[in-house]
Amino acid sequence: METRAISATVARFLLESKKLLINGEWMESSSSDLLPVMNPATGERLTYIAAGNEEDVDRAVAAARAALEKGDWKKMTPMDRSKLLWKIADLIDLHADELAELETLDNGKPISISRNGDVKASSNVFRYYAGWPTKIVGETNPVSNGNYLNYTVREPVGVVGQIIPWNYPLMMAAWKLAPALAVGATVILKPAEQTSLTAIRLGELLIEAGVPAGVVNIVTGTGKKAGAAIANHPRIDKVAFTGSTEVGRHIMQAGAVNIKRTSLELGGKSPNIIFADADLEAASLGASEGVFYNMGQDCTAGSRVFVQRQVYEQVLERIVQYAENLRVGNGLDPLTDIGPIVSEEQVERISSYVEIGLEEGATLMSGGKRVTDGVLKHGHFIQPTVFANARNDSRIAQEEIFGPFVSVIPFDDAEEVISLANDSIYGLGAGIWTRDIGRAHSMAKSIKSGMIWINSYGAVDPASPFGGYKMSGYGREMGAYAIDLYTETKTVWVKMD
Ligand code: NAP
Ligand code: MG
Repeated sequence: METRAISATVARFLLESKKLLINGEWMESSSSDLLPVMNPATGERLTYIAAGNEEDVDRAVAAARAALEKGDWKKMTPMDRSKLLWKIADLIDLHADELAELETLDNGKPISISRNGDVKASSNVFRYYAGWPTKIVGETNPVSNGNYLNYTVREPVGVVGQIIPWNYPLMMAAWKLAPALAVGATVILKPAEQTSLTAIRLGELLIEAGVPAGVVNIVTGTGKKAGAAIANHPRIDKVAFTGSTEVGRHIMQAGAVNIKRTSLELGGKSPNIIFADADLEAASLGASEGVFYNMGQDCTAGSRVFVQRQVYEQVLERIVQYAENLRVGNGLDPLTDIGPIVSEEQVERISSYVEIGLEEGATLMSGGKRVTDGVLKHGHFIQPTVFANARNDSRIAQEEIFGPFVSVIPFDDAEEVISLANDSIYGLGAGIWTRDIGRAHSMAKSIKSGMIWINSYGAVDPASPFGGYKMSGYGREMGAYAIDLYTETKTVWVKMD
């Protein structure tokens, strides 16, 4: 079995099995149960993590509640919280190489994505929210029913449960933690069981930065045990969830127990629409990157590419060429474009959609096969896959596949493509490629999705709201919207006479 050189720092981190972070201390699960952590590129075991359960979540909630209600965290000034968030960002940057290596080992993604995408985006989001604590303001309201001073204050929503997926492990932790800390909430974070390592390392950095005990608790473990315990807990005030639509539905139902505030970032089947007048080179590249980035394990993956019929063959050929030039390999190899899929289960799921696509009569233009030769044989690799002439109402064009898998679909005019694009249970992202500025804006208005990219695809920034329409979830992360997610508004009436 092939082993690539792991840096001494990361090797040291992996040496002992990883623990839960509860009340500022690293501890075993109350059951002492462990889960193995696998490297998806080699099938090798990297280490173990603690399998947290209901009792562990209980302990974490008690710590988070105590930290919320009394002690150092409550006494911290907004300016102190700013400094703390900025310091966390600096520590992430200081340990960027280590975090990137750990992410690639654990998740499989190419090291260039870990280093230049995920880790940078993670420190950026902390730095962005470092500016917020001193700017979370209330209002005075001009009431008419008496002589009152009426004002609002924003208070932390309380104890927050945050449940995150495996596709951007560190970055999802950062997106969730930074705004919650900015407002002064306290947190129980549950990373995905397949990819908990960078969240655990981030936990160490949070302590180093000076986050008080109990403010951030990290309970690793399965969704069925640790995740469900968070979703069901009567003393957790809010749950922020990123993951599948199916589990999102459970989170909503479980939240009914104590009328939890929930926010859900769920799946997608985003359209990327190319008109004949577009810069076809840029559009073909944008459509290819838009679906193959991060092996397509991206909720905003542009997995339905609609191309106007007169340029359909031309664009299809470019996308196929792009897919065939992608180099599949171990993510630690700097030449790799397509790393392993996160798990065996996911490769099987993607492969099953290749079968479904063929049965549905779509044309397989490229890829679709598992890669099992040489050093890759113990990992979870699949070729980037391009299907042509898929019908929009077929399963491969309707169901989220979450892999390097694209359906390229022809259309004739704007009216038709609007109805095809919107014919989906999801509404997360959409791309529009055209040189006609009027058409670009009218398409942006007509497409039902949370984010629209014009002559580009997939840009994300801490200042720009992120989230979905329809079954892609509700609530928006980033910007001022995430401050709303983690605060309550209190109104105060003061009788003036
Ligand atoms: P998932 O199965 O829904 O898991 C997400 C998280 O929920 C994991 O931590 C999981 O734990 C946990 N979980 C599972 N069952 C649970 C339960 N009954 N109660 C509470 N928590 C539970 O999703 P995934 O397969 O990891 O991620 C892929 C999905 O996430 C895709 O559908 C993708 O579109 C979506 N996603 C959306 C966004 C967005 O912002 N909209 C971003 C990224 C991903 P374990 O994994 O540890 O069992
Ligand atoms: Mg792993």
